[in-house]
Amino acid sequence: MAIFHNTSEIQTPTVQIVEISGTTEATVTTENEGKQHALDCRYLRMARIWAENSYCRRRQVGAIIVKGDMIISDGFNGTPSGFENVCEDEYGVTRPYVLHAEANAITKVARSNNSSDGATLYVTASPCVECAKLIIQSGIRRVVFNELYRITDGVDLLTRAGVKVDHIENLS
Ligand SMILES: [Zn+2]
Repeated sequence: MAIFHNTSEIQTPTVQIVEISGTTEATVTTENEGKQHALDCRYLRMARIWAENSYCRRRQVGAIIVKGDMIISDGFNGTPSGFENVCEDEYGVTRPYVLHAEANAITKVARSNNSSDGATLYVTASPCVECAKLIIQSGIRRVVFNELYRITDGVDLLTRAGVKVDHIENLS
């Protein structure tokens, strides 16, 4: 009985602390959101610079995979290892074996000791449906992209699978 009495005595200040931390949390969240947005813009700018590695002439896409505060992978669109660095055929059509930036970044994780589970993918253009499938299966929880591609089935699939998708157009 004495123990029960003690517990209820403790409960009163505990409730007060929760209320205070609730207010503080709201302020911290807004602050964190601002910091996160600045980080998101920086990673997207990095992805954009990384896209410059691509030999593809039609479209250069870059991707960065971040887990916690660490960049665990990167990729840009291009041919698989060992193939010549030409993405288009003589008619300017993209060759079927060209890998998208997201696919290159995800498969690079597969070659490493890292895990993409719970990671965030930063990509210069919104993912296509094929890459969306890989993103879902690799356990990536959030996708941040810069340019919205005209076909949105990839983004739709990601959203349907519960992956958080953020479109940041202005990277300043
Ligand atoms: Zn793709």
